[in-house]
Amino acid sequence: WCCHHPDAEHPELARCWCRKPGVGLVIAASLSMSHHFGEYYPPYMGLMVGDRPEDQECAARAGLDFQWAAQWRAQAEPEPAPPPDPPDS
Ligand SMILES: [Zn+2]
Repeated sequence: WCCHHPDAEHPELARCWCRKPGVGLVIAASLSMSHHFGEYYPPYMGLMVGDRPEDQECAARAGLDFQWAAQWRAQAEPEPAPPPDPPDS
């Protein structure tokens, strides 16, 4: 979540390095995960799933692998259940 906006009154809030396609949120997430899990997870170890061109550009800038959301969702769909066994007769 980016708290900056170019029209913000406070100069610190007008400067933004995190809004996509900037990589700030990726770096912040990497640091947050490192803090939470006690290990360093460099951004390039991640996969970014997105649905906008700026998402793809952000991934490229951060060195992340990228996958389109529709494709990722299709992969996450469970496989259809096999047909039930025929009843014993
Ligand atoms: Zn920002």
